[in-house]
Amino acid sequence: MARVLIVGAGGVGQVVAHKCAQVPEVFSHIVLASRTLEKCRRIAAQIKRPVETAQVDADDVAQMSALIQRVRPDIVINVALPYQDLHIMDACLAGGVDYLDTANYEPLDVAKFEYRWQWAYQERFRSRGLMALLGSGFDPGVTNVFTAWLAKHEFDSIETLDIIDANAGAHGQPFATNFNPEINIREVTAEGRYWEGGEWKTTAPLSVSRMYDFPEGIGPMKIYLLYHEELESIAKNFPTLKRARFWMTFSENYLTHLRVLQNVGMTRIDAVVFQGREIVPIQFLKALLPDPASLGPLTKGRTCIGALVRGKKDGKDKVAFLYNICDHEACYREVGSQAISYTTGVPAMIGAKMMLTGKWRGHGVFNMEAFDPDPFMEDLNRYGLPWTLQKLDAPMD
Ligand code: NDP
Repeated sequence: MARVLIVGAGGVGQVVAHKCAQVPEVFSHIVLASRTLEKCRRIAAQIKRPVETAQVDADDVAQMSALIQRVRPDIVINVALPYQDLHIMDACLAGGVDYLDTANYEPLDVAKFEYRWQWAYQERFRSRGLMALLGSGFDPGVTNVFTAWLAKHEFDSIETLDIIDANAGAHGQPFATNFNPEINIREVTAEGRYWEGGEWKTTAPLSVSRMYDFPEGIGPMKIYLLYHEELESIAKNFPTLKRARFWMTFSENYLTHLRVLQNVGMTRIDAVVFQGREIVPIQFLKALLPDPASLGPLTKGRTCIGALVRGKKDGKDKVAFLYNICDHEACYREVGSQAISYTTGVPAMIGAKMMLTGKWRGHGVFNMEAFDPDPFMEDLNRYGLPWTLQKLDAPMD
């Protein structure tokens, strides 16, 4: 029986609130706080169990600490934006409470994400006897757990990893992003990066692509090499890996819009002066684009996200793809959100459950692959993200 404080009432926050409410034996009291109180109230009104709401600016550590002191949570689930991570971690340290998030820290003024800033909190969490679980979404999150599960059960050693993320769905909008547009566009327009032969290799943004034939009738789709944060911890924690890459699908339509927006400067993250005041173009663009939460009722089709591993078993080469397929409309029927928010919010709830039930415990700052993947994998099947193992004849080149 635990008290949970969820911070961030966006697309993902909505799913986390719904899913925590479905597990009353663990989450006995739920508080949802965000910058805009009205958004918390709207979500709370959808849920049959009582959900307390609060207004907070999580960038203000004193405000966040006061909220923690008032609510006395056993865990804080941070599903605000990556910019808030360090401030919320500071407030958790001050209030003596465990922490979980789904995306690693990113400074507002540099489009760069890496674990360095959050790993630097290791000693502070350890010495306070607290736990911080980083990246408990789908990717990062489930993809780390998939890799750990494959390494534990299917291989003697894993040699190459390709994380592949397909959205084979459509929302019918000319241009929209499935999660926070600012974070999404910063991620997609960044240089590609992958791990090979013990070092990081860099590629121009979206310059490497190929076709991949997805299972269960999804079929061939074009995938693009991106840098994604889980590669950093996975390359460190699985030293037998000779190569680790991340791939995502994009439609031609999405890429054309993005190219135009980039060419005219609308994706810039530095301030420009407009009519005597400073504005940041990407933040202005966010205000114009559809709110990802509004895509819920419009999105049809499925997502498929998985880990493709080549390695050795009993001295022989082996290739396996471990994946989840999630249906946008089924997610909407269950929690009022599309599958991108759903596939992030469900693992956030499960990660919190692992910590609160003692299945995953430790003092310090942890990535997902640090723990036994088995109880988490069981809960994926139980709470809406069932997985399938596909044995393949050949690896990806
Ligand atoms: P949204 O933009 O829909 O929601 C973010 C919410 O956080 C908004 O309600 C916003 O409030 C609130 N917020 C922003 N700043 C503050 C602040 N200073 N204090 C309090 N609340 C604040 O984003 P998503 O729900 O799509 O994404 C949430 C997180 O999940 C992001 O960090 C994203 O990177 C991550 N994510 C992770 C994935 C994974 O698989 N690991 C996949 C997809 C997303 P307001 O509305 O008032 O601005």
